Amino acid sequence: MADVAEGGPPAEPQARHIIYCGVCTLPPEYCEFGGTTKKCEEWLKESHPDMHERLYSEEALNANLSSLSVSARERAAKDAAKKEAKAALAETRDAERKAAAKVQIKRVERNKRKYVTVISGLEAHGLDNKKLAKELGKKFATGSSVTKSPTGSEEITVQGDVSDDLFEWLVEVHGKVPEENIELIEDKKKKGSS
Ligand SMILES: [Zn+2]
Repeated sequence: MADVAEGGPPAEPQARHIIYCGVCTLPPEYCEFGGTTKKCEEWLKESHPDMHERLYSEEALNANLSSLSVSARERAAKDAAKKEAKAALAETRDAERKAAAKVQIKRVERNKRKYVTVISGLEAHGLDNKKLAKELGKKFATGSSVTKSPTGSEEITVQGDVSDDLFEWLVEVHGKVPEENIELIEDKKKKGSS
């Protein structure tokens, strides 16, 4: 007589499919090494609350930490801190670059009483020179095209002196460039002899 229940019910599978983090693409168990831990945790909480509960409960965190050797833990923490600092720095730099990016509206005298207005620096504010050149040509019913500056960067040359209107238009209509970033410049033609 044997009441052996060989091969009882199989253990419940732990996970039916593999989940990868929607932020750092690592399996969520490894998010802490990705440098975006905070965002990763938020993502997991939203997308897989069960797994979040399992991985981020205090118990789980303690167990996880004690399974790593001290030096590995220190290394991982340092790496994560470095990555996080790097990301923060890049974000700050980008914001600073944008805040400092000047747009110039320059009135240039081409011939006697003939002017063109040259506007440069728009692309740093996420504006498209080609599109704006077209828009400006229509608005002022004049020639307007994307040209290359002497230094090789793009600018828009509009026929005629429209610098004041252009300034207002840029601030009011487009509103992407802060007023204090716009410089109005007058470039008087230098006369060879006078
Ligand atoms: Zn992650």
